[in-house]
Amino acid sequence: MITAELALDAKAELGEGALWHDGRLLWVDIEGCAVNRFDPVSGRNERWAIGQRVGTVVPRRVGGLVLAVHRGIGILDTETGRFELRCDPAGGREELRFNDGKCDPRGRLFAGTMGMTKPRVPGTLYRIEPDFSFAPVLEGTGTSNGLAWSADESTLYYIDTPTLAVSAFDYDPDTGAISNRREVVKFSGDEGRPDGMTIDADGNLWVALWGGSGVVCCDPRTGRVLEKVEVPALQTTACAFGGPELRDLYITSARIGLDEAALAERPFSGGIFVARPGVAGVPAFTFAG
Ligand code: CA
Repeated sequence: MITAELALDAKAELGEGALWHDGRLLWVDIEGCAVNRFDPVSGRNERWAIGQRVGTVVPRRVGGLVLAVHRGIGILDTETGRFELRCDPAGGREELRFNDGKCDPRGRLFAGTMGMTKPRVPGTLYRIEPDFSFAPVLEGTGTSNGLAWSADESTLYYIDTPTLAVSAFDYDPDTGAISNRREVVKFSGDEGRPDGMTIDADGNLWVALWGGSGVVCCDPRTGRVLEKVEVPALQTTACAFGGPELRDLYITSARIGLDEAALAERPFSGGIFVARPGVAGVPAFTFAG
C-alpha cells in the first residue's frame, strides 16, 4: 500500500479534473465554479472564477484552456481571465451540466453531461471537434466520469459511475467513433465508487474512488486491482500523473457532503494529494482547436 501526501491544502468543495500540462497541474472545483493551475515547485495555485460549475479543463494547442461547464463548452483566456462559450450541446437544458472530460489523441474533446435534479435525467457523452461542432457518442449515461485511451489508440476506457465499472470501447481514432462496449473492471461499490481515471505507461488504469479514500490501479486486460494509493480524504475524485518524469500521481478530493465530524477527522479533505507509486504516466492530450 502507498500513502499519498498533501500537496496543496486547497479546501475545494468538489476538486476534480486533474490534468498535468506544461509543468503544472490543472484542476477544477466544480461546486466552487472555478478552474485552477497549481505549480508544485513554487507552491503557487492560480484560480479563475468562471461563474458557473466547471466539470472539465483541458489545454488548447493555441494557448489558453477549454472548459466544459454547466451551460456548454467554452474557452478561457488565462491572460485576461475572459471566458467565452463556444457551443451548447445540451441545448440549454438547465437540469444538465457537464461533468468529466478528456481529449483524445487527435485533439477532440470528449465530455459528458449529468443530471442535477432527483430523479436524475440521463446524460450524454459528447465528442466535440476542434471547430466546436459536436455529436453525441453515448446516450443514457448516469454520472459521466473518467476517460482514457490506450497507447495504440484502439481502445477508449470510460467510467459511468453508477455502473460501478470501467467500460472499454473499440475506438476509431480517424473518426472518433466508439463501438463494442464491454466491462473490463468491475467494482463492488463497498470500497467506493469509480470516478476519475488516468492511464499509465504500462497500460494500467488508475481509478479514483469516490467514498473510497484513494486511487486503485487496475489492469484492464485481467480486471484485477493491482495496487491502492491511500489518501487522507474520503471523497477522492480524479488523478493525473505529473512532475518532471510523470512519476508523481496527483489526486483531487472533495469536502462536499461531509459533516463537521468527518471534516475534523480528515481536515485536508478538498486538498490536492501526491504519491509516488513507482510507475510513469503518459502525457495528456490537448485540444486541437
Ligand atoms: Ca468526477
